[in-house]
Amino acid sequence: MTELLSNYVAGRWQAGTGAGSALFDPVLGTELVRVDATGLDLAAAFAFARDSGGGALRAMSYKQRADMLAAVGQVLQSQREAYYEIATANSGTVKNDSAVDIDGGLFTLGHYARLGQGLGEQRHLIDGDSARLGKDPLFQSQHVQVPTRGVALFINAFNFPSWGLWEKAAPALLSGVPVIVKPATATAWLTQRMVQDVVNAGVLPAGSLSVICGSSNGLLDQLQPFDVLSFTGSAETAELIRSHPAVARRSVRVNIEADSLNSALLMPGASAEAVDLLVKEVAREMTVKSGQKCTAIRRVLVPEAQAAQIAQAISARLAKTSVGNPRNESVRMGALVSRAQLQSVQEGLALLKTQAQVLHDGASHALVDADPSVACCVGPTLLGLKDAAASDAAGVVHEHEVFGPVATLVPYRDGAHALALARRGQGSLVASLYGSEPGELARAALELADSHGRVHVISPDVGALHTGHGNVMPQSLHGGPGRAGGGEELGGLRALGFYHRRAAIQASTAVLEPLKPAAT
Ligand code: NAP
Repeated sequence: MTELLSNYVAGRWQAGTGAGSALFDPVLGTELVRVDATGLDLAAAFAFARDSGGGALRAMSYKQRADMLAAVGQVLQSQREAYYEIATANSGTVKNDSAVDIDGGLFTLGHYARLGQGLGEQRHLIDGDSARLGKDPLFQSQHVQVPTRGVALFINAFNFPSWGLWEKAAPALLSGVPVIVKPATATAWLTQRMVQDVVNAGVLPAGSLSVICGSSNGLLDQLQPFDVLSFTGSAETAELIRSHPAVARRSVRVNIEADSLNSALLMPGASAEAVDLLVKEVAREMTVKSGQKCTAIRRVLVPEAQAAQIAQAISARLAKTSVGNPRNESVRMGALVSRAQLQSVQEGLALLKTQAQVLHDGASHALVDADPSVACCVGPTLLGLKDAAASDAAGVVHEHEVFGPVATLVPYRDGAHALALARRGQGSLVASLYGSEPGELARAALELADSHGRVHVISPDVGALHTGHGNVMPQSLHGGPGRAGGGEELGGLRALGFYHRRAAIQASTAVLEPLKPAAT
């Protein structure tokens, strides 16, 4: 039997009492560890986090909590090698892809530590200016934001066991709100190990960070009115969460990051340089983390007349991608995370193929150092619609997210048609635009801003500088309307809003004055 990982709740390590679920190496097929949450006293776990963790965190200033985040970052930095080993074994990722998760998490943590240091020694935030409520200016209204007196429960997806924890925990802990994280079972090991290192280092007050691995049974039942829930995962699970009594009856605040049919759009009349930038970015986005990124490009919108040329250029790049065992230095793309994901990608691909043609076949990639009957590896597949009319008719391409190295080339008639096709995703996390004319790019970006959480604009002047279509930077908003879940994360200090309660204080200016931060 493999090792059973412990949960950390109520200030102590506790093993589940069941047999547990096994975590596997998706390349070798071997069992790695097991997780189990059976028999935990969840009520006690949540109460301890709220009372001990929340109390201790709220007693600290933003600056003190920011210093605490910096200390967490140092602990994690010192164990980076171990995290890379876990990622290779449990996520089947090549080093560069593990970095997106591991170093991406550390970078985000460091960013919030720096932002928090700028907030100084205050324990609440002033929200806007005070406003007089009547003729006499003595009686005014001042909005403030204070940390919510509850716990932040995170239910995370399998594709980012590190970043998915820290991009949420950094703003929560900086806000003064304790965290309970439930990682997706398939890749829970890395999250569990990171929490273990941070807990053992003693850099956080007791109760501020807990981890529960295994089934989510009973977790939502624990939620109370001042708790918050941040969920990342599929639209199906999101639907269950939205209709849970804690959310429906107790008004628990919920943030949902779900799936998304992100697009890359080549502007009409774009220069050859802009075309090259699109081709490079599409091939990169399809293959990074084997396409298992919520922000990955799924639809490539191009002028009808250029579709064949672009298909060829993307396919030529994809053909060079070596796929297989991430331990082999020549491999550029590792595995999908599990047999279940492999099957889901194969089924999704079959569905898309009912309406689109194969332009580059992932099956043409022989696996390097990996047994195809065991390894959850697939080559990248580019699909395409034959013309602009087909782009309108092929509903499934705009509706079904294949969570793997798969994208579809979608030809459009004109600029207005391209924007309409991008919106067919019904709300996405990100769209990227490729072109050379700043005015047109700015107009198109605004046109897409209501249906996308982020619009990433690539013109030749920033060709070597931009941060990547799919890379989520802590400075920018992450989340999207509609089917993307309707959530908002990150965006610098905006992220703190989710973990704070806003209230208006109506009082004499003499009462309001001491609430304002002292001028420095
Ligand atoms: P999932 O099946 O919905 O699982 C997500 C999480 O929910 C896991 O921790 C899972 O636990 C838990 N869960 C499952 N059933 C639950 C229930 N009834 N109540 C409460 N929790 C429950 O999604 P996934 O397959 O792991 O993730 C892939 C999806 O996530 C993709 O569609 C992708 O687009 C999306 N995603 C979105 C973002 C974003 O930021 N927008 C980021 C990454 C991924 P178990 O693992 O134990 O089942």
